[in-house]
Amino acid sequence: MKNMTNYELNSALERKRKKRKKKRTIRMVLLTSVVLLISFIGIKNVINKRKLLVKNNISTTYAGSKENIQESKNNQENKVDNNVNENLNNNKNDKNDKNDIKNESKNNKNFTKGIVMSVDKIWSKEDKRKVAFLTFDDGPSPHTPYILDILKKYDIKATFFVLGTSAKNYPEFLKKEVELGHSIGNHTYSHKIRYSGAYTPEAFVQDVKRCDNAIKEVLGQDFKTNLVRFPGGSFNHKSYETALLNSGFKHIDWNVENGDARRLNVPKEELINNVKEEIAGHNKVVILMHDSATKETTVQALPEIIEYLKSQGFEFGIISQNN
Ligand SMILES: [Zn+2]
Repeated sequence: MKNMTNYELNSALERKRKKRKKKRTIRMVLLTSVVLLISFIGIKNVINKRKLLVKNNISTTYAGSKENIQESKNNQENKVDNNVNENLNNNKNDKNDKNDIKNESKNNKNFTKGIVMSVDKIWSKEDKRKVAFLTFDDGPSPHTPYILDILKKYDIKATFFVLGTSAKNYPEFLKKEVELGHSIGNHTYSHKIRYSGAYTPEAFVQDVKRCDNAIKEVLGQDFKTNLVRFPGGSFNHKSYETALLNSGFKHIDWNVENGDARRLNVPKEELINNVKEEIAGHNKVVILMHDSATKETTVQALPEIIEYLKSQGFEFGIISQNN
C-alpha cells in the first residue's frame, strides 16, 4: 500500500467501506429474520395452547355467539361420547360391570347400584344412614358433560331436575344422564318463580306437564318421572303444592345448598364452605346445586364437595323418579 497514489488509496478505502456496509446490512437482515421467526413460532405456540385449553377445559369466558355455543356443545357431546366409549371398553372383560351399564341404560328401571330413595322416605327419622343426594337444577347445560365426568370418576349417581327449555337445547346431554344411571326430575318448562297472578296453581301444573312432554320428546314416551322440584322451592306455595300432588306428582326441596345461585361466579371455596357448614347435624342431605352455563365454579367445587362428604361418612343416593 506504500506505493499507492492518493487516488488509489482513496478508492481502496472506499471499497473497504462499501464492503463493511454490505456485511452490516447482511447481518441486520439475518438478525431481523431470526427475530421475526422466533416471534412467529412463539405466537403460534400461544395460539395452539389456547386452542387446546378451550377444547379440553372449561373455557374461562362464556362464548356469546350462537356458533361458539354450538361449537362448545359439539365438543362436549364428543367428550361424553368418548367417555362412554372408554367406559364401555374398560368394562369389556368384566361381565358384571357390562351388565350394570346395560341395566342403567334402560330408563333407570333396572338401576341396581347405590341408594335410591323415594321422596317421602328421605326425611324419615328411622333410617340413620348418612346419605347425600346431589341435585342439579336448570340443566342440561354446556357444563353437563363435566358434571357427568366427575360423577363417573367417583362412581356417584345424582338427581338432575331438568328444565323443559334446557332439555330441548341439549337433548343429547339429557340422554347421557339417563344412560349413566342418574335420576331425572322435572323443574317446569319455563322456570317462573313468581307463584301469583296469572301463574295460578293450574298454570303451574300445566308448566310441569309441558316440561314432562319436553322430556318425553327426548327420552321417549315410555320414560316416566313424577319427581318435581319447584323453581325457587315450594316454600309457602301451599295451593300450588296441593294442585301438583293432585295431578300425581311428588316434589322435593333441599336442606343444603352450595349457594351458587346467590350471585354470579361465587368463588369455588365459598361454595365448598357453604356445604361444609350446612351439612352439620344432618343424616340426610339434599344438596341444591345448578347445572347452568353461568355456574362454572359449581363444576370446579364439585370434586372437593364430594371428597368432603365422603370424609364425613356419607354415602350417595338418588331420589326416585317414580314415587
Ligand atoms: Zn331452577
